Amino acid sequence: MSRIVFWVILIIVVGFAIRAKLRAAIRRAETHVPPPRPAAQSTAVIENMTSCAHCGLHFPASEAVRAEGQDYCSPAHAAKLNN
Ligand SMILES: [Zn+2]
Repeated sequence: MSRIVFWVILIIVVGFAIRAKLRAAIRRAETHVPPPRPAAQSTAVIENMTSCAHCGLHFPASEAVRAEGQDYCSPAHAAKLNN
C-alpha cells in the first residue's frame, strides 16, 4: 500500500514540476520583446531645411530654387523678386 502512495505522490510532484516549467516558458515567450531593428532607424534621412526668401515657407533645401544667392520655394517666387 505504501508503494502505491509513494508512486502517486511522485507522479503528482513530477506533474507540478512540469507544469511550473511550462508556465515559466510561456511567460518568457509572451514577455519577450524583440529588439528594435537598427535598419529601420538608419533608413530615416535627415535633410536640411531652408526658407523661401519671398514668402518665408520652410521646405527641404534639396527642393530649393536658388537665385542671386537666396533660396526660393518655386521659380515663380524667384522670378517675383527679380521683377
Ligand atoms: Zn515662396
